[in-house]
Amino acid sequence: MSAEAFDVAVVGGGLHGLSAALHLARTGRRVTVIERRWTGRHASGATAAGVRTLGRDIAEIPISLEAMAMWHRIADIVGDPCGFHAHGQLRVAETGEHMPALLQREAKIRSLGYAHEEIIDAAELRRLVPALSPHCVGALVARRDGAADPHRTILAFRRACEAENVAIVEDCGLEAVDRQGDDWLLVCGQRRFRAPVVVNAAGAWAARLAALFGDEIALGVRASMMIVTERLAPLLAPVVSVVGRALSFKQSDQGTLVIGGGLQGAADLDRERSSVDFTELAKGARAASDLFPAVRGVRIARCWTGIEAQTHDHLPVIGASPNAPGLFHAFGFSGHGFQLVPVVGAILTDLVVEGTTRREIAAFAPRRLMQERVAA
Ligand SMILES: Cc1cc2nc3c(=O)[nH]c(=O)nc-3n(C[C@H](O)[C@H](O)[C@H](O)COP(=O)(O)OP(=O)(O)OC[C@H]3O[C@@H](n4cnc5c(N)ncnc54)[C@H](O)[C@@H]3O)c2cc1C
Repeated sequence: MSAEAFDVAVVGGGLHGLSAALHLARTGRRVTVIERRWTGRHASGATAAGVRTLGRDIAEIPISLEAMAMWHRIADIVGDPCGFHAHGQLRVAETGEHMPALLQREAKIRSLGYAHEEIIDAAELRRLVPALSPHCVGALVARRDGAADPHRTILAFRRACEAENVAIVEDCGLEAVDRQGDDWLLVCGQRRFRAPVVVNAAGAWAARLAALFGDEIALGVRASMMIVTERLAPLLAPVVSVVGRALSFKQSDQGTLVIGGGLQGAADLDRERSSVDFTELAKGARAASDLFPAVRGVRIARCWTGIEAQTHDHLPVIGASPNAPGLFHAFGFSGHGFQLVPVVGAILTDLVVEGTTRREIAAFAPRRLMQERVAA
């Protein structure tokens, strides 16, 4: 059976796979995206789509700030604004006891030369979010942060890929690989692909994919839950999270409230399914109505979960395989990879094209999660 030949095969048609494909295609590479189900089927289609630099791990701040600059010109990159609005993100203190953690965080990032997180008092908080319960005393704010429309973003990245002649192949799962000369042969059911470069953007299944190439990577899984309500009149513009509670709260352009914050359901990787734990999810609804009294009694329209890979240090895996030539990993975004989408594709392109990158990615090296090989 003859194999379809490409310069780069990206495995996984989530946003990270599409972003990598887009950036690589723009360097003139012939690129395919191989997706087991359909583009955006998993985390990228389930995401809350918060675009957040606020509270990032220190190691992620440089690429997160670069990604934020890209979000502010996202229409130039993918030809559509992706529903992105920079209304800010806030981390709210409900009591005075919660303020020291926020003050320390601001001091820490300022000492490192960053200025994107700023302490605000109760009066400024009230001005930014009038609907917030009056018991809240202050917050940390990142004013250039915001949120996007996840489905519009997927469509925009997909269309931009297609405009660059990326071959997007759906209903096509990678099952086995073989080395043939300088190429990888990718076996996907009845179809065969060959390429010297493979990008592993397989999300929650990325460790399984890596293992096909001989990379044993320790990876956990998460199944974050979301709530969306009926439509309401405009209530708030920024995205609000709160110290000590699992809550992320925002209002979409359509008026629905979108409530998340990382409460966990159950994931089943073999069946590619995840399920809601309603007892746990009730904590999110409770936190939302504590913080926003106006939402008490609002009807919940839908709940869902999405499956994603989680690393032990909650930092992503971005970099070349230390074992398999031509294999590059991009996964393990641990619940906060949406914001990084535009920049990670650019980083992978540096690595594929130049063999190196000026961006700071040492903390994301795949090797840190690779198990010791048992001597034969
Ligand atoms: C509920 C929820 C809320 C979130 N909220 C936010 C947020 O507010 N802000 C933020 O920054 N991030 C958020 N995230 C995280 C963010 O959505 C993810 O980090 C991001 O979407 C990951 O994209 P991905 O392309 O790596 O993975 P995915 O979108 O999961 O894509 C991986 C793809 O690989 C495919 N695949 C797997 N194995 C194979 C195979 N063998 N062959 C072919 N294809 C394969 C899968 O079918 C899947 O489509 C959230 C995530 C969830 C689940």
